[in-house]
Amino acid sequence: MHVLGAKALRVLILGGTSEASKLAGLLAAESGIMAVLSYAGRTTALRAPPIPYRTGGFGGVEGLEHYLRSRRIDVLVDATHPFAEQISRHAQAAAAKAGIPLVVLSRPPWVPEAGDRWIEASTMAEAARALGEAPKRVFLTIGRLQISAFAAAPQHFYLIRTIEPPGPLQNLPRAKVIQGRGPFEADAEVEILRAESIDVIVTKNSGGEAAYAKILAARLLSLPVIMVARPQETAAAAFHDPADVLDFLSRHRAALAPRGV
Ligand code: NAP
Repeated sequence: MHVLGAKALRVLILGGTSEASKLAGLLAAESGIMAVLSYAGRTTALRAPPIPYRTGGFGGVEGLEHYLRSRRIDVLVDATHPFAEQISRHAQAAAAKAGIPLVVLSRPPWVPEAGDRWIEASTMAEAARALGEAPKRVFLTIGRLQISAFAAAPQHFYLIRTIEPPGPLQNLPRAKVIQGRGPFEADAEVEILRAESIDVIVTKNSGGEAAYAKILAARLLSLPVIMVARPQETAAAAFHDPADVLDFLSRHRAALAPRGV
């Protein structure tokens, strides 16, 4: 949308997800919106996006607020992973302090379908407890940062799949690590579950297609899945589709139009 006389809208996108990259692709074609995409800097092989970008942390809430004010950012878009909790908390606080709107863009969560045997857990500690007392063979696909929650249940065997090596696994005497990065195929996931005689899968409700194959495989084998729910979203404007964020930004720019030239 082009608004005559309106200044360009300045947007900061917190990224590191495919949704953020899709939004960046849409905004690259919008002359009235000047967006910068921010990466945490965890990935070494970064593919340059079609809009300006920066990498690395901001230095907490204060650092992010300073960035927003000094770059005169009009709207902050939090398009980070649904389980990247700290940066999302910082985004909410910094946007409020800087007095600008926060928009959350996240992929839709998975929902159970016929044949799924999900056990919902709201935290990793709850997921560990949900495994029960009797020793089980567990496929743990939760990333590497929260594995320590399962030290409370060391009687189980854990097949742990991570992208990067998880480091020393304290108090998990029966663990095996495999490294893998999605997208995964359901057939291959079934193979893993069978070969390792897995009884139960633990996963985060990340949503998206790349990691969905294990859910399909569990359905095929009628295995239970302990599904860790997402942290609550609290932003006033939350979307699942990058096109809806573009629409929000265009309308916001139009609303600001009388203010700037
Ligand atoms: P986190 O725990 O929520 O954030 C840790 C710190 O990293 C933040 O306080 C911030 O540092 C910095 N940071 C995070 N995202 C940033 C961004 N987009 N731009 C600049 N700084 C950022 O984050 P995380 O879970 O480690 O995730 C890091 C990145 O990986 C995010 O971009 C996220 O979208 C992506 N990712 C995460 C997951 C997951 O499961 N957690 C999965 C896939 C992708 P300062 O406090 O110094 O500003």
